[in-house]
Amino acid sequence: MFYNNYDQVQGEDRWGLVGQVGDPFREDRQLKVKCAACGKGPLVIAERNWMATNPDHSQACQIVVACLACGAVDEFVANDGQEGSNGPLKRAGVVPQVSDLLPRDGEKK
Ligand SMILES: [Zn+2]
Repeated sequence: MFYNNYDQVQGEDRWGLVGQVGDPFREDRQLKVKCAACGKGPLVIAERNWMATNPDHSQACQIVVACLACGAVDEFVANDGQEGSNGPLKRAGVVPQVSDLLPRDGEKK
């Protein structure tokens, strides 16, 4: 399936896209979510592992995050069963949202 190749797509266009193109939870992006271990953060996305294709053809991915303050690792599932539906962080218990993503360095929003 070629959909997986969108992991390598760069640029801003994908922000406005929906459907099978993917989600914005990409490696090196940071989430302003409190760390389960130290209560600080943010959490940086360290790994993104493809899991499955959902019935709506979106791609379920395991997202591994690490706390920038203490290094604790947590994980959640992006597109958990359907497009745009995230699972909760296993340790922190909160569901990361697209709105929790911090702008990239140098990115003006
Ligand atoms: Zn921490």
